[in-house]
Amino acid sequence: MTTSIKTLGSDMSGIGALSPFELKDRLIKAAGESAVERPANLAMLNAGRGNPNFLATLPRHGFWQLGLFAMRESERTFAHLHTGVGGFPKKEGIEDRFEIFARENQNVRGVDFLCAAVSYVRDQLALNVDEFLYEMCEGILASNYPVPDRMLCLSEIIVGHYLRREMVGEHPFVGEFDIFAVEGGTAAMTYIFNTLRENYLLNKGDTIALGTPIFTPYIEIPHLRDYQLNVVEINADVESGWQYSKKELDKLRDPQVKAFFVVNPSNPPSVRIDNESLRYIAQIVQDRPDLILVTDDVYGTFAENFVSLFALCPRNTILVYSYSKHFGATGWRLGTIAAHQDNVLDHRIAQLLPVKKRELNERYKSITTDPEHLKFIDRLVADSRTVALNHTSGLSTPQQIQMVLFSLFALMDTTDTYKNTLRQLIRRRKQALYTEIGVRFDASDSNAVDYYTVIDLEYLGKRAYGQPFVDWLFTNTQPSELLFRLAAEAKVVVLPGRGFGTPHHSGRVSLANLNESDYARIGRAIRRLLADYVERYNLATGQELDPNKVL
Ligand SMILES: *Cc1c(COP(=O)(O)O)cnc(C)c1O
Repeated sequence: MTTSIKTLGSDMSGIGALSPFELKDRLIKAAGESAVERPANLAMLNAGRGNPNFLATLPRHGFWQLGLFAMRESERTFAHLHTGVGGFPKKEGIEDRFEIFARENQNVRGVDFLCAAVSYVRDQLALNVDEFLYEMCEGILASNYPVPDRMLCLSEIIVGHYLRREMVGEHPFVGEFDIFAVEGGTAAMTYIFNTLRENYLLNKGDTIALGTPIFTPYIEIPHLRDYQLNVVEINADVESGWQYSKKELDKLRDPQVKAFFVVNPSNPPSVRIDNESLRYIAQIVQDRPDLILVTDDVYGTFAENFVSLFALCPRNTILVYSYSKHFGATGWRLGTIAAHQDNVLDHRIAQLLPVKKRELNERYKSITTDPEHLKFIDRLVADSRTVALNHTSGLSTPQQIQMVLFSLFALMDTTDTYKNTLRQLIRRRKQALYTEIGVRFDASDSNAVDYYTVIDLEYLGKRAYGQPFVDWLFTNTQPSELLFRLAAEAKVVVLPGRGFGTPHHSGRVSLANLNESDYARIGRAIRRLLADYVERYNLATGQELDPNKVL
């Protein structure tokens, strides 16, 4: 089996210049059109997708049942017209009417969930149930613009409890934070970069630090003409379980570095920052009280006892969270931006030069009579709709309602049943993958999150066969050749680690998107490929390495 790269049925020219997402498309094409013989109707396995193949059902049942109740509320008004015209829900007596609805629909999935949610909101969160049900019904009927625009009132409180539980946990946390509900983590990133720039907190030519490897957009956005930022990489190292060393983190001490963008737990290594490093970053922030941290904690719920940088450095940190991954809800577009009410962003805006402050007051004067004291988070809201359309900003209200129901679902799951089920699901997939590759792997790393796994050929190859083999492999293969062979020969698509800023030859396998047997097939395909290169190496060099050695 010595397939030459030319027989792969896909043009390899210019591969090096492709972005990882373009490369992914080429890999999918190669998996589809390959001329290499293989069992007919072998399905393509795309392990490049971060989109999970599981989803939370109960809070969705709750959403649909709440929708039915809200319709009943609406149709109480204008009922005499019989023309399909309804009105707004009424707050007065809504709890009593909900109880009647719940009794009539006993044993219907989702209704029990709503009853539990009402009880939780009243008894655990001490909120007024009439007001809660009214906000939920009005929101799900979507008959008003989102008011307040940043986030609906009780929704913000409930989502706040959820973020506290998942992102802060047992860590002490003093004071309150504000939340802006946004269209997923993606929108959060877009808005944050933009408002930091509009408010002169990041200027062209400024330096930011990125915790690498990192989700590709964080690498690409700083280079856009809009931003033109210099980037310092804080590199996590595969040899140390993908943690940031103190030496790397010390780069944040440079006063040139204005902000540190980090994904925690990381993507693609899928490892949370360990407690020692978190404390070390907090120590650096003490010495650099002006440093802005942006932490994207989309995968926080997949880690054990997760603690966000937001908990350790609340004044300096903008927290990005998304419901996409944990609840299997990428299509809903649900995310949040949170900032402590006492934060360095507002402080630094207050310290801008008078000429800049005047310009910003001009920018935001249509929103408030006191634009100078408009909080950073409210500037985010305004900028998200080019200021002039601020009155129609905010996440659509049904989205906010589903976000609340997801949050309540997690808050009520005191035994972490859903969370543990997901963890087991993805860990078993990882086990299946690595068993078939023939790798002994350390399952004891409590910081490993395993939503993705990076197969680092350089690291594994060196461990099993030594540096000369690795050197030979990379001088005798083209960039991405291995990924193309995986696609063409085994119909397995894996994303290149290079696109995420990994220094080594590696591929990112998402453990979220396929089933256990698929990961076993991917593992076998990777092993066959590696064994093939070992055989070739033996032929070329006269060595006798064992192609089936455990790595
Ligand atoms: C998937 C992902 C996102 C995207 O979140 P959406 O809410 O789906 O927009 C953001 N950040 C990271 C690191 C991700 O992996």
